[in-house]
Amino acid sequence: MGLGEYNFAPRERKQDEKFMREAIRQAKKAYALGESPIGCVIVRDDKIIARGYNRRTTDHNTLAHAEVIAIRKACKKEGDWRLEGCRMYVTLEPCQMCAGALLQCRMDEVIIGCPSPKSGCAGSIINLLEMDGWNHKVKVTFGVLEEECAGLMKQFFKELRVRVKEEKEAARAAQMQEK
Ligand SMILES: [Zn+2]
Repeated sequence: MGLGEYNFAPRERKQDEKFMREAIRQAKKAYALGESPIGCVIVRDDKIIARGYNRRTTDHNTLAHAEVIAIRKACKKEGDWRLEGCRMYVTLEPCQMCAGALLQCRMDEVIIGCPSPKSGCAGSIINLLEMDGWNHKVKVTFGVLEEECAGLMKQFFKELRVRVKEEKEAARAAQMQEK
């Protein structure tokens, strides 16, 4: 099964979409802060136990990725560093740090909205989550509400490019006035 294909789990797809929709809602909170729109939720027994969204710029913190924030909350709530029996829904393929955290907390599965060709460690660059040799594997499922998740990222970076261009033009105009 290749990247981006839906890997049919025994549960219903509708259920996966319901949880991914909540992850998208979290991603939109990041968007509203001017952050890359990435959001996630952690589910146990078909109930959301933790939510997170990217706050890297807002918190001036390299570690403030959506997944790490949600894992911290879930561990606190469960009173355990292990999150066995849980699954994560995340709008974008996890990076190396978050894939590491998913392995460390022994998450059962991660369900991903869209791939991240330049930083994804669930198959795009490397699949850390399903590698042989670790003492644990995290099942990877791609392609739930992929278009919506990818669309959010595209829109964000399109707006960012416009903003950067406008700022450059404004700086140039200011320079011209000084001359
Ligand atoms: Zn990450």
